[in-house]
Amino acid sequence: MLRCLVSRCLLTNPVAGQTRKMSGGSLAGSQSSLAGKVAIVTASTDGIGLAAAQALGQRGAHVVVSSRRQSNVDKAVALLQSEKIQVTGTTCNVGNSEDRARLVNMTVEQCGGVDIFVSNAAVNPFFGNIMDSTEAVWDKILDVNVKSAFLMTQLVVPHLEKRGGGSVVFVSSVAGYQPMQALGPYSVSKTALLGLTRALAPELAQSHIRVNCVAPGIIKTTFSQAVRTPSLSILSSLPVYSFHFTYPP
Ligand code: NAP
Repeated sequence: MLRCLVSRCLLTNPVAGQTRKMSGGSLAGSQSSLAGKVAIVTASTDGIGLAAAQALGQRGAHVVVSSRRQSNVDKAVALLQSEKIQVTGTTCNVGNSEDRARLVNMTVEQCGGVDIFVSNAAVNPFFGNIMDSTEAVWDKILDVNVKSAFLMTQLVVPHLEKRGGGSVVFVSSVAGYQPMQALGPYSVSKTALLGLTRALAPELAQSHIRVNCVAPGIIKTTFSQAVRTPSLSILSSLPVYSFHFTYPP
């Protein structure tokens, strides 16, 4: 489902990939529709980020995968290579400004530019009543989930402009539309990404850069394990939803 949504954002994007005709809501398309494109996906050695990297790579993009741990990067690179996907990997903690700059510079040096940026990284160090959340919790969540998404975009945009345009996709959450119980600060950070998308999209449209946001429901990954435990079973009964919006609508 999520793979389809990320692909849909990109396949309907005349800049990031060739525009593909769709009929009956299905994805049209050969696996080579993103041939020649370079895609950075953050936090892409597991879960949704890895699935997005696979989806982009299967359509011909050269994908740049990263996360904090070298061992995870090595595993993801080996997996994608075994699937015949063109891939480059490096460590990058998106909360660290030097890491962010190194990721973008390495991509430009080794892959010749950037066409697509998927901002997928997020943390959630807090479960409980929002009134019990501390300044340190807010600092961590806003730094990684919101500020780094913007700061990475700021680094990537000049390179998208050099290619004549491109595509930025933020990974938000249904929690961004309806805050989830016990996940107040995280939910607020995901709402901020909806706002960031709307704030950036009109400005970057002038440079032929589309800005989209996907908001997955609960997906079985390591990240969502905590909300799928019996103690928070109210959340585990939620259906899987996915939304995305584009500018202009
Ligand atoms: P996941 O399966 O747990 O994967 C997390 C990935 O992020 C790993 O590759 C991890 O590798 C990397 N990572 C963690 N912190 C990082 C950091 N500071 N900098 C760079 N990489 C980092 O997570 P997921 O469920 O796919 O979640 C991905 C995104 O989807 C998040 O934005 C999340 O909010 C969103 N989302 C998830 C769900 C869900 O139900 N799963 C629902 C809605 C939205 P390392 O440990 O090596 O860093």
